[in-house]
Amino acid sequence: APSATPPLLANLNPEQLAAVTLPAGHALILAGAGSGKTRVLTTRIAWLLQNGYATPGGILAVTFTNKAAKEMVARLSAMLPVNVRGMWIGTFHGLCNRLLRAHHKPAGLPQSFQILDTQDQLSAVKRLCKQHNVDEERFPPKQLVYFIAGCKEEGMRPGDVHAHDSDGRKKVEIYQLYEEQCQREGVVDFGELMLRSYELLRDNDAIREHYQRRFAHILVDEFQDTNKLQYAWLKQLAGNDVGGRYEARGSVIAVGDDDQSIYAFRGARVGNMADFVREFDVQQQIKLEQNYRSYSNILDSANALISHNSRRLGKNLRTTQGPGEPVRVYEATTDLAEAQWMVDEIKQLVRSDGFERKEIAVLYRSNAQSRVIESALFNASVPYRVYGGLRFFERAEIKHALAYLRLLENPHDDTSFLRVVNFPPRGIGARSIEVLQDAARAAGCSLHDGVSAVPGKAGANLSAFVAMVDVLREQTEGMNLRKIIETMLQSTGLVEHFRTEKEGADRIENLEELVNAAESFVTQEGFGRDAVALPVDELRNDRLTQSPASQGLDPNAPVTDEALPAVAGIVDADTGETLSPLAAFLTHAALEAGDNQAQAGQDAVQLMTVHASKGLEFDGVFIGGMEEGLFPHENSANEREGLEEERRLMYVAITRARKRLYLSHSQTRLLHGQTRYNIKSRFFDELPESALKWITPKQQGFGSYAPNTGGGNPFAQRDRSGYGAVRSEHFASPPVPVQKAAPSHGLRVGLAVFHTKFGEGKVLALEGTGDDARAQISFPRHGTKWLALSVAKLTIVD
Ligand code: ATP
Ligand code: MG
Repeated sequence: APSATPPLLANLNPEQLAAVTLPAGHALILAGAGSGKTRVLTTRIAWLLQNGYATPGGILAVTFTNKAAKEMVARLSAMLPVNVRGMWIGTFHGLCNRLLRAHHKPAGLPQSFQILDTQDQLSAVKRLCKQHNVDEERFPPKQLVYFIAGCKEEGMRPGDVHAHDSDGRKKVEIYQLYEEQCQREGVVDFGELMLRSYELLRDNDAIREHYQRRFAHILVDEFQDTNKLQYAWLKQLAGNDVGGRYEARGSVIAVGDDDQSIYAFRGARVGNMADFVREFDVQQQIKLEQNYRSYSNILDSANALISHNSRRLGKNLRTTQGPGEPVRVYEATTDLAEAQWMVDEIKQLVRSDGFERKEIAVLYRSNAQSRVIESALFNASVPYRVYGGLRFFERAEIKHALAYLRLLENPHDDTSFLRVVNFPPRGIGARSIEVLQDAARAAGCSLHDGVSAVPGKAGANLSAFVAMVDVLREQTEGMNLRKIIETMLQSTGLVEHFRTEKEGADRIENLEELVNAAESFVTQEGFGRDAVALPVDELRNDRLTQSPASQGLDPNAPVTDEALPAVAGIVDADTGETLSPLAAFLTHAALEAGDNQAQAGQDAVQLMTVHASKGLEFDGVFIGGMEEGLFPHENSANEREGLEEERRLMYVAITRARKRLYLSHSQTRLLHGQTRYNIKSRFFDELPESALKWITPKQQGFGSYAPNTGGGNPFAQRDRSGYGAVRSEHFASPPVPVQKAAPSHGLRVGLAVFHTKFGEGKVLALEGTGDDARAQISFPRHGTKWLALSVAKLTIVD
């Protein structure tokens, strides 16, 4: 009953209310962090539905991550007794996937096409390079992947790319070959999902018209990080070019914050906001200026920091909350000591201040930083969860298992074939595989079909492998997902193989987790008994109870496509065919692997990169590694554009915190196998002193923070192979305090110097004294380096 639902619009401030209840038309909501942008989007959807201005099928909402999509769906279900599954809420990739499955024929794909994640893509390109004798020194596969992704983000097929030299032409040729290979194998990468569905809409008037009529309301969160192709895709969905002029129909609402644009390196274009206003003739621009998330010490820090950027669209943020605790800043001597400090503070927050662990996040600029923090948390028995990094679906053993499952779905998936043909080992060597690849190429068939052409013992082994998979396919037909996976794990020998391996127990556990993941996928996505029929009926009921429209909003989009769960319910628009549960699960796995997925609801400290934290909020936030070279990152710190993006990243990081914010840096850090001497980040100078509280380790040392870990000795050998690797006996040497006396080498920051090997350079930073003195120097030819002054042959130029 309507009276049971909480009043939707209570508690909204006037600007938020205006945004939620906007009449039909296009709007841009430009507002800073924590001002309720996402909340406004969600509430608007609920309001549209509740008042009968839209049907669930008439709504398309784009979120930045799968996690955000799930959260939005969860919030909507809490607000409103409506079947939310019929709505198209998801990431660009998720929505494109859905579109392509529904219209796979006009898109030129098999319905059960597989999605290549970044790893798969790289191995597919490597394979291609080998086959075509591409010089991998000259054309590193990673760069080729980057090149192909870049072309696709620009909407360019090989024929559209203008190459200026022979290297350029070679790259385009490889792009072309790569496309052919993917098409042959029935696989698409993430960029292809986007480009292919853009082309589908562009080239098929009937399909485009259908969705334009259907999606009367399009809502886009985090609009500042859309790239060129994503914007073009939205334009296809929302309207047509009429006589050289773009005419949008329906209603598009974009929300964003130019200060939180942090994906320029992946082609994001803040300029899309201005284009949107112009091309959609946006009449409504709303600013939200009240921050509901953070105490003012945190908010003041964020505002002060971001004010150092130029060319901002300009927004204010205020809060009515009090100052709260000061932002705590800690200088550690080593990264180990830094991590230990975090752990101590986290324990304190949980024990004395009643914080939930899952409401505490540790953020870092680079994934490589997480290892030390993980160790410290692990040793202190604090549960934690890592987002990003090696995600569940990207772990080797899981990829192997998924490859077998993909072969069950599609025997011609050569990428999967190659991954497992000799895993577990079955005596099939690299040479045999080459022979097979040559034979398949000559015959123009898949590896699966090519095995009979391979002679001798190698051929027999290969045939045995193919027969095993083919038998498994027949055997698992009609089984439920769980049973399929269990059977596969047994008969392929995967589990057996890991039993004999050193780290095997963990891997077997992960494989068991895969079964659980499948199980919860089935429940969540409604692949249970009559799951497919049920939501449709529910939707019909929704429609019957909707009141007629008023207030100039027209709920005109008839619900023609059925309301079905996000992945499982994907239906062929022509035949009504749905994906098999296995294919649906594989799709889910691939999409999740490309995202920072939400994990089970255990009360654990959340570890993630700053990039992954966008849109999220936590009671307590730790930002570690606040050092020059790390944050701002050395790749970006030397030009303005790059530095401003780093600053926006820092702004995102700070504004994740509700109640407590902790910043730290360390004098030394072991990264990528090297000890680095870092000075504290310039960002500290941009924060208001009044909001900060500096904490220094007790003189007795970091020892008291990191007992027996030899926290002060940066040269201690550390075993980082795994959990619990940091053992006290490795660190018997006493801490070596890093001195901070005045330097005596005559260098200062900004001086030009000459180095016998690296040539002329400029001093960026100085650290230490005496034999310990070192300088960070930027060399135009050789990049930025830290040099020990007692060793390096440097002369001052000016
Ligand atoms: P970001 O830029 O980080 O994505 P945002 O602008 O999307 O932030 P939200 O996440 O929507 O902000 O909101 C921030 C927090 O403020 C949330 O906890 C939200 O529930 C709360 N909030 C938003 N508006 C109000 C309000 N009017 N009254 C109370 N709380 C609010
Ligand atoms: Mg948001």
